[in-house]
Amino acid sequence: MSAWRCEGLVYRYPDAARPALDRVTLSVPEGACTAVLGPNGSGKSTLLRALLGTLAPAAGTVRFGGLTLAEWPRAALAREVGVVPQGEEAVFPMSVRELVGMGRYPHLGPWRREGEADRRAVREAMRRADVDGLADRPVGTLSGGERQRARVARALAQEPRALALDEPTAALDVAHEMAIFELLRDLGRAGTTVLLVTHNLNLAARYADRLVVLDEGRVAAEGTPSEVLTAELVQRVYRWPARIVPHPGPGPDTGAPQVVPLAGEMCGGIRAEDGHAA
Ligand code: ADP
Ligand code: MG
Repeated sequence: MSAWRCEGLVYRYPDAARPALDRVTLSVPEGACTAVLGPNGSGKSTLLRALLGTLAPAAGTVRFGGLTLAEWPRAALAREVGVVPQGEEAVFPMSVRELVGMGRYPHLGPWRREGEADRRAVREAMRRADVDGLADRPVGTLSGGERQRARVARALAQEPRALALDEPTAALDVAHEMAIFELLRDLGRAGTTVLLVTHNLNLAARYADRLVVLDEGRVAAEGTPSEVLTAELVQRVYRWPARIVPHPGPGPDTGAPQVVPLAGEMCGGIRAEDGHAA
């Protein structure tokens, strides 16, 4: 069963030379982690916004849980789908605890008073995103990576059925990036639908169940990591030569395809070659 399903999505920004989304058709399975990859400007953020209904496509349809976005009552959809948008939002003078607490808004009653279940969800989300030690810090004083983790915690606090995250690990050190990927994989296994935009091809190959690669607003490839991540795909979409090697392990993801980009000198020769994995 698909969480999201979109068909023939077209979107063009005003005055843009080419559409940001050009007949995109894809399914995002329920209760699994799907990673959206692609070069800068390939349409990843635009696709996420179209799936969330924050921009209206010129053509095509988006369904979530079987209903078109137009059929979803706004408040219900806001409870079901948690979002970590790309980049900065305006930082209001609030603490990390207050920011994470905003994730509970769609669940609060008309008096907007938090109950014990809300407080528990906020505590648990702060623990899972490793920001419980930052609870009283003003958000404006956090490092880029700390703020990113606080934004992930806010989405977790919502306890959504589906999570859409746009480059949530962009400013994170290796340990915090790994922790977020493991957390997203665990959420997927526990039944949450995870849709993740990332530039980390290698962690996507290890932790996501499915990969979707966008190129100039079109779906260039879609499938399991080993189906999608080939040297030919990396060359064609990113225009850079690479070898694909199996993750040496140890660990449950031993053997996952890993992209090793080659030195620039190799661009001339390798491009004409077959580009097979070593
Ligand atoms: P990605 O997230 O993959 O980097 P985006 O979805 O942000 O790509 O952008 C896709 C294309 O649309 C790019 O060519 C980008 O320059 C263009 N674009 C994005 N946002 C706007 C905007 N607000 N106005 C005009 N063009 C935009
Ligand atoms: Mg983007």
